[in-house]
Amino acid sequence: MHKATLDYAKQQDEFDELSIYRHQFHIPTDKHGNELIYMTGNSLGLQPKQTKAYINQELEDWANLGVEGHTEAKNPWLPYHEFLTESMANVVGAKPIEVVTMNTLTANLHFMMVSFYKPTKTRYKIIIESDAFPSDKYAVESQLRHHGFNDKAGLILWKPRKNEDLLRYEDLETILEKQGSEVALIMIGGVNYYTGQYFNLKRITELGHKHGSMVGFDCAHGAGNVELNLHDSGADFAVWCTYKYLNSGPGSLAGCFVHERHAYNKDLNRFTGWWSHNKQTRFNMRHDFDLLPGAEGWQLSNPPILSMAAIKASLDIFNKIGIKKLTEKSKKLTDYFEFLLKQLGEDTIKIITPENPEERGCQLSIQVLNANKALHNELTVAGVISDWREPDVIRCAPTPLYNSFQDIYHMVDKLKDILKNEIE
Ligand SMILES: *Cc1c(COP(=O)(O)O)cnc(C)c1O
Repeated sequence: MHKATLDYAKQQDEFDELSIYRHQFHIPTDKHGNELIYMTGNSLGLQPKQTKAYINQELEDWANLGVEGHTEAKNPWLPYHEFLTESMANVVGAKPIEVVTMNTLTANLHFMMVSFYKPTKTRYKIIIESDAFPSDKYAVESQLRHHGFNDKAGLILWKPRKNEDLLRYEDLETILEKQGSEVALIMIGGVNYYTGQYFNLKRITELGHKHGSMVGFDCAHGAGNVELNLHDSGADFAVWCTYKYLNSGPGSLAGCFVHERHAYNKDLNRFTGWWSHNKQTRFNMRHDFDLLPGAEGWQLSNPPILSMAAIKASLDIFNKIGIKKLTEKSKKLTDYFEFLLKQLGEDTIKIITPENPEERGCQLSIQVLNANKALHNELTVAGVISDWREPDVIRCAPTPLYNSFQDIYHMVDKLKDILKNEIE
């Protein structure tokens, strides 16, 4: 049984074999130099201390070698993306041929829909979760319009029931039983950004495939947070960013997964560029197009190496620990977080994230009775970096790489003080 004391939290940190990794990250500080309690690894992950050296390596090679760096750099730039593939595949539970790092997240979502949203006159609808991340909703709406469909009529929202926050699979089943023959694509956020609900990707995929639909996931809140097992899920595609739990810096490149069953399918329509062309003949320039197999066959451009260096710095840490061990610690951290929050009184605090550890990652979305943004501001002043989402939700994501049990203890302690002062 947990204890709501600082001594207990300290003890948990001493037992934790991953606690050493916190020192490999830059923890932001206040203006007096005190470390802040950083709970927003789900928004922008912290900087690994080794990132600077990885980027500097490429800056130096560029300075010393110029264009020759493409082949002569310590990590040659031509195949640089390949240095990320295996680690990235491990993080998301995929085979190397299924994974590539390229573009940015919403761009990848569009490129995937070019191939996997193939509407006909009668089967053209797209299902997304009603509280999807805005960029995802805008992207699927614009795909509908691009193909000449009405984006209201073509979009089916999978909604929570009245007075509920989480989505139920039975309701998705009902949608598909009624309209399954009209659905061309199911595109769901693998872990919902707002509630933190982690969906059963395999279950959704099987359901979609049974009704003849393609199935893809936006795993921005899943990659580096939960064991996604993308290959086993059977999903047709998935996309994710690397600047949240994968700590690769603001606006960094994104990941993309295409299931192995599509790896050699040259008939799938797609947008191509020279980076989707055979590596052996790419620089002969005058060859007819010769498609690369696997996820790499969706690349267009030679990628930004400085950003890839930051991804490599981060993935090397993930690789050392392994996503399994990380999620084990994550479950302990979030369990403790939930325990402490519940001590504040279930009439004051409601956690909308699922209670079942298999249905969530590290994030807890906390609804505080009668709260408004002032509460979030007070938390910030008290040194807690959290995330506010209208109308009344604070999202906190203690990440196993750099958050400690003491962080969690202090965060809840500060929240308790703020709530107490409000009542007095
Ligand atoms: C963070 C996030 C985005 C952001 O998209 P960018 O293209 O990286 O700006 C989109 N969708 C989801 C689900 C996200 O969590």
